[in-house]
Amino acid sequence: MTDQKSYTQTPWSLADLFEGFDDPKYQATFDEIEQGVQKFEAFREQLAPDLSEDLFISIVSTYEGLVRRLSRLGGFAELVFASNTQSQEAQSAVARVDQFQAEMSNKTMFFNLWWKALDENNAKRLLDAAGDFRYWLVTLRNFKDYTLSEPEEKIINIKDVTGVSALNMLYDSITNRYTFKIEIDGEEKELTRGELMALVREPDPDLRAKAYQTLFSVYEADAPILGQIYQAIVRDWRNENLNLRGFKTPISVRNLVNDIPDAVIETLLDVTKQNAKHFHRFFDLKAKRIGMDKLRRYDVYAPVEKSDKRYEFSDAAEIVLESFHEFDPKFADLAKEILDKNHVDSEVRKGKMGGAFCATITPDLTPWVLLNYQGRPDDVATMAHELGHGIHSLMAREHSALTQHACLPLAETASTFGEMMLVDKLLAEETNDAVRRDLLFRQMDDSFATILRQNYFSLFEQTAHEMVIQGAQVNDLAEAYYENLKSEFGDSVIIPDEFRWEWIMIPHIYNVPFYVYAYAFGQLLVLSLYKQFKEEGNAFKPRYMDILAAGGSIAPIDLLGKAGIDITSAAFWQGGYDVIGDMVTTLENLD
Ligand SMILES: [Zn+2]
Repeated sequence: MTDQKSYTQTPWSLADLFEGFDDPKYQATFDEIEQGVQKFEAFREQLAPDLSEDLFISIVSTYEGLVRRLSRLGGFAELVFASNTQSQEAQSAVARVDQFQAEMSNKTMFFNLWWKALDENNAKRLLDAAGDFRYWLVTLRNFKDYTLSEPEEKIINIKDVTGVSALNMLYDSITNRYTFKIEIDGEEKELTRGELMALVREPDPDLRAKAYQTLFSVYEADAPILGQIYQAIVRDWRNENLNLRGFKTPISVRNLVNDIPDAVIETLLDVTKQNAKHFHRFFDLKAKRIGMDKLRRYDVYAPVEKSDKRYEFSDAAEIVLESFHEFDPKFADLAKEILDKNHVDSEVRKGKMGGAFCATITPDLTPWVLLNYQGRPDDVATMAHELGHGIHSLMAREHSALTQHACLPLAETASTFGEMMLVDKLLAEETNDAVRRDLLFRQMDDSFATILRQNYFSLFEQTAHEMVIQGAQVNDLAEAYYENLKSEFGDSVIIPDEFRWEWIMIPHIYNVPFYVYAYAFGQLLVLSLYKQFKEEGNAFKPRYMDILAAGGSIAPIDLLGKAGIDITSAAFWQGGYDVIGDMVTTLENLD
C-alpha cells in the first residue's frame, strides 16, 4: 500500500456522536425522541387494513428515525462507559437510556401487534411497497402465531424487568465479584477471571491445572445458588415461550429469532457429533507435542511453543490493512476509515472494559472499535476480527437502521474471515518454524473453542431445559454436564471431576438461552466460504461481497442460498468439518 500512515494508540473520539453528557445536543435528542413517540402514537387511529402504502412507509420511517436517535443516545452512553467503567456518570446514563427505551417500546408496541395481526393480502400489498424495510417487517410477522394481546405483552415486558432480567443481573453481580487467589512462583496473587484464564495458556502444566482448580473451587462453592438461578431462568423460558406463546421446543424460540429453521440446527448439531473425532485427533497430537501421554482437560489450550513474538501497534495495523488489501482494496479502505476517524480505542487503561468489540451505532456513522492491544499475536488477530466487523457494517451502510445488522449466525462472517486472511498472511511471511507452528495450533485451539465447545453447550442446554421441567436437582444437571463432556472429548482427554461445574460459569446459557450455536454456525460457514475463496480466487469475491452488503436485509437461508450455499444440507456442514480435518492433517505433517 502506498499512503500508509503510522497509527498510534490513543483513546477514541466520540465527537461524531456528542461532545459529552452536557452537550446540548445530547439532551435535545431525548426531547426529539419524546416528540417522535407522540407523533408515532398519533398513527394509532389511522391503522386499518386498507392503510395506504404511503402512510405505511411513513409510519415505519418514523419508527426507524426513533431507533436511530435512541441508538445514538444508548451508543454514546455505552461507549463512554466502556472506555471508563468506573464512571458513575456513564453508568447512570446507560440506565437512563435503558429505562427510556423500555418506555418507548411499550408506547410503540401497538404498531408491532397491529402489523402481526394484519390479514395476508394486505400484508403482502404493504410488504411489496416496503422497500428496504421489507425483511424487518417479515421477521416481525414470523412471530404472529406466538404473540399475545397488548396488555399481556406489556405485563410480560414489565414483569421481565424485575423477573428474569433481575435474576440475570443477580447472576452477573454474584459472579463478577469473584476473585481468584492463586500462588504463582511462591507469591499469592488475587486475580480476575480473565487474568486467571490467561494462565491456562501457559507452558507450565501444574499452573494450568491450578488455574482451573482455583476457578472451579470458587464457582462450586456457590453451585447451589447459581444452579437455582439457572433452574428459575429455564422455568421462566418454558412458562413464557412454550406454555403461553405456544412454541414447540425451547430452542425453537431462538431459531425463530435467528430466522433459521429448526431442522437446520438439528442437522448442524448432528453433524457436529459425527465430527468430534477431528478434534480428538488434534488433542492426541497436542499431547504428543507437549510430551504427555494424554491431555487432561487442563491442557486443551496449552501452547506447543514458547513463542514470545510481539508486534508494535503501528506494525500490526499495517499488517492487518495489507492482508485486507490483498483480498480487496475496498476492504482495506473501509478498515482505514475506522482508524483514520480515530474510532479505535486500543490502549490498555485502568477501568477500561476488557476484551474487544465493534459497535455500529447507526448506518450513517462509522463504527467504533474497542481493543485492549498488548502486542501479542492474539491481539493482532483480534484487531483483524473487530475491523472485519467494521467492514461488514460499512459494506451494509446503505440499509436502514432496521436492516443494517446481519442476524446473529451471520454476524461473525466478516470478522472470522478477516482473521483468516491475517493468519494466511502471517503464515506466508513467517520464516520461523516455531512461530508458524504456534499460529497453526492456535488456530485449531480457536476452532475447538468456537465450534465443538459451543455446539456441545447447545446440546447440554437442550438436555438441561428438559431435565429442569422434570424436577432435576442441581447435582443431576452437573452429572448430565459431565456426561456431555465425555461425549465431547471421547477418549482423547482426561476430564477431572470438577469440570462438572463448568456450565454454571457460562453466562450465555443464563443471559441468552441457545445463543451459543451461532458461534459454531458462523465459524463453519466461514471455513467453507474461505475454502471456496482459495479454490476460486477472484471469482468468489462478488458472491462474498454481496453477502456482506446485504447486512440484515434478507433471510439468512435466502442470502446464503443465492451464494450457492445450502445450509439445510448435512453436506454443507460436513464441508466445514472437512476443512478442520485438513487443518489437523497439516499439523500432523509438520516436523
Ligand atoms: Zn466477533
